[in-house]
Amino acid sequence: MRPAFILGCAGLLTSTLAATAAPPEGVKLARAEDGIDAPSTPPPPGAVVLLDGGDLSGWVRRDSGGSPTWAPLPGGAVEVRKGDIRTERTFDGHFKLHVEFRTPYMPEAKGQARGNSGVYLQGRYEVQVLDSYGLVSQDNDCGGIYKVAVPKVNACKAPGVWQTYDIDFRAPKFEDGKKVAPARIGVVQNGQVIHDDVAIALDNTVSGMGGDPAQPGPIMLQDHGNPVQYRNIWLVPLD
Ligand code: MG
Repeated sequence: MRPAFILGCAGLLTSTLAATAAPPEGVKLARAEDGIDAPSTPPPPGAVVLLDGGDLSGWVRRDSGGSPTWAPLPGGAVEVRKGDIRTERTFDGHFKLHVEFRTPYMPEAKGQARGNSGVYLQGRYEVQVLDSYGLVSQDNDCGGIYKVAVPKVNACKAPGVWQTYDIDFRAPKFEDGKKVAPARIGVVQNGQVIHDDVAIALDNTVSGMGGDPAQPGPIMLQDHGNPVQYRNIWLVPLD
């Protein structure tokens, strides 16, 4: 049973949210802090800045390799448009990825249709982005490692509120073409640990880019048809 903390009466808000404080009118908060943006963390020294404001240089469309059509917003963010996008750079080994995102308020939408996007490590392993505020989280809800691992707690903020992922990722290890260690993922959402060094048996979660899991891969952001927003994405190589 999924408790409904969100009352649907304000209609669909989309890109007009860019620079405003959240949450939208009509969202009933379980806790006051759920309506307050997670602090934005600037990139530390040595970080690879992947998204700074609305600047999508360094990103390409997954399908064509061409320029993304995602929309830069006033106030410094981008909003999902047609097509998954990925970084031109690829990454391997052990790294930390910081992502800031917010989901739209879509009170009429349900389940996977409600503010869906996703952050893919090496283009292959999705940490789900979804409006899962107030739900009992499943492995396909926000913070889930898609269809692999359920978040330890539902750490989501309300739709329209900026949230953070701090993801600790270790690529799988291969020797002589044989996998000797799986990928591992830890996730802190809005300051709460939701995954602690989870071993990922799969080489690709649903809708990932696949390919040779022994090779480096990009960071990919998913277009699932909903106006999810992103800002301030950076990565720190750890070995
Ligand atoms: Mg998704």
